[in-house]
Amino acid sequence: MKNYAFTINGKSISTEKTFDVKNPATGDLIGSASMSNKDHVSQAVAAAKAAQPSWAAKSDEERKSTVNKVADILAENTAYLAKWITEEQGKPMAGPGSMFEMQACVGWTQVPASLDLPVEAIFEDDTRKDELHRKPVGVIGAIAPWNWPLMIAIWQIIPAIRAGNTVVLKPSEYTTIGTLEMVRLINTVLPPGVLNTVSGGGDIGASLVEHKDVDKIMFTGSASTARRIIESSKGNMARLTLECGGNDAAIILPGTDMKSKAEDLFWGAFINMGQTCACAKRLYVHENDYDAVVEVLSDLASKMPMGNGMEDGIVLGPIQNKMQFDKVNDLVKDAKSKGAEVICGGSPLGGPGYFYPITLLGNVDNGHRIVDEEQFGPVLPIIKYKIVEEAIQKANDTKTGLGGSVWGDDLDQAAKVASKIQAGTVWINQHGAIHPMVPFGGIKDSGYGVEFGIEGLKAVTRPQVISIKKPVLV
Ligand code: NAD
Repeated sequence: MKNYAFTINGKSISTEKTFDVKNPATGDLIGSASMSNKDHVSQAVAAAKAAQPSWAAKSDEERKSTVNKVADILAENTAYLAKWITEEQGKPMAGPGSMFEMQACVGWTQVPASLDLPVEAIFEDDTRKDELHRKPVGVIGAIAPWNWPLMIAIWQIIPAIRAGNTVVLKPSEYTTIGTLEMVRLINTVLPPGVLNTVSGGGDIGASLVEHKDVDKIMFTGSASTARRIIESSKGNMARLTLECGGNDAAIILPGTDMKSKAEDLFWGAFINMGQTCACAKRLYVHENDYDAVVEVLSDLASKMPMGNGMEDGIVLGPIQNKMQFDKVNDLVKDAKSKGAEVICGGSPLGGPGYFYPITLLGNVDNGHRIVDEEQFGPVLPIIKYKIVEEAIQKANDTKTGLGGSVWGDDLDQAAKVASKIQAGTVWINQHGAIHPMVPFGGIKDSGYGVEFGIEGLKAVTRPQVISIKKPVLV
């Protein structure tokens, strides 16, 4: 079985100590990844630190041109990397799957390459002139999750290098090989040391966070890990961008025509088998519309082929790992024991892969674990409401605040409701519709800081004020 290497200072590093990577659709071993240790973390940070000044000294045009070359590499290797995503993560090649993830990688690379952060004139009078310049932060540690492994790594690394930082990336231990391979390919167009990888579990992530020469951490993952990162960055005072989980509510306003919108809602809840931070994870429906909404969603669920994502026509894959599979199973079992009605799905499909059917649950409410906790799986609890204020209050009754959505035919009314939802983004008649120009980030336990667009680029810089005293006129 091939041993995939990590990259430090432009060189591939293989170790004797490795860990296995299995295909979640088949249980087959598909490769092994070299395991980094603390020394490798130090070497990677040292390489990033040494490369940073000369990378930052390049002109914006040079860095933009190099980042565009990265986009070309990603586009040329889309099929190869998409195959890794499907075999390692589980999402199918087709539908909103791994080819889609690779297209997003290209787009989220091209857009930062097109952005600038010009000097801002902050203040001027007869006596002084103050300008705000944007400087790179330095060495950025990027820590990625397993759900959109390549796309989220790209979100973290591309704005960082565009702005003149250098990066050490640690992929999730569940989805390491595709990311190591992507970084190996990207390194063919970057100067050595600008983008490095280390691999392993949370202990390697923690070593990176604690390292004295790391200036900023870009983290995407769970709130519990984010809290550990806050603790372990107290020594180096690394700046943090924390993109954590969510438990997004979707509210359908009374009388909304959902036939035309149902497919968008379906994928807003079930893209990547619901293993997406900003998926609709709770659906609030007026009691008079409940039957019609249930019918249209269960009809769609019955038509979506699930299986090994390497096969043609498959649009839904397995759950990515056993921990997540058990969590979903446990939450659905708990809901059933509390009287939830299983509209469709509701129990595992059987091995060898971690297949769990699209599951719609009725007769559930806030206060049930399946509604209150982030299930991060192919499950949607559907909660009836009588008045819109009740739905808003229940939507906000959560510790998280990543996204939310309002579905309605009257856009003004939908916008009024949207403004009352406590979340970083509230979509109207769509859910999870992120865009590389539009800032994205959460509130409450969903973390802090934003990614994407100009705001995302600013987040990987530090402001420097240049303050000039004007000569006194005599
Ligand atoms: P996780 O927190 O378990 O792991 C994420 C990463 O952190 C992994 O690379 C892991 O090895 C690393 N890690 C673990 N312990 C660490 C430590 N002490 N110090 C440093 N790094 C450590 O999360 P996960 O299960 O991989 O991802 C799923 C979660 O991510 C869900 O909650 C999901 O909602 C969230 N998520 C959020 C976004 C977003 O943009 N807001 C996007 C995708 C996923």
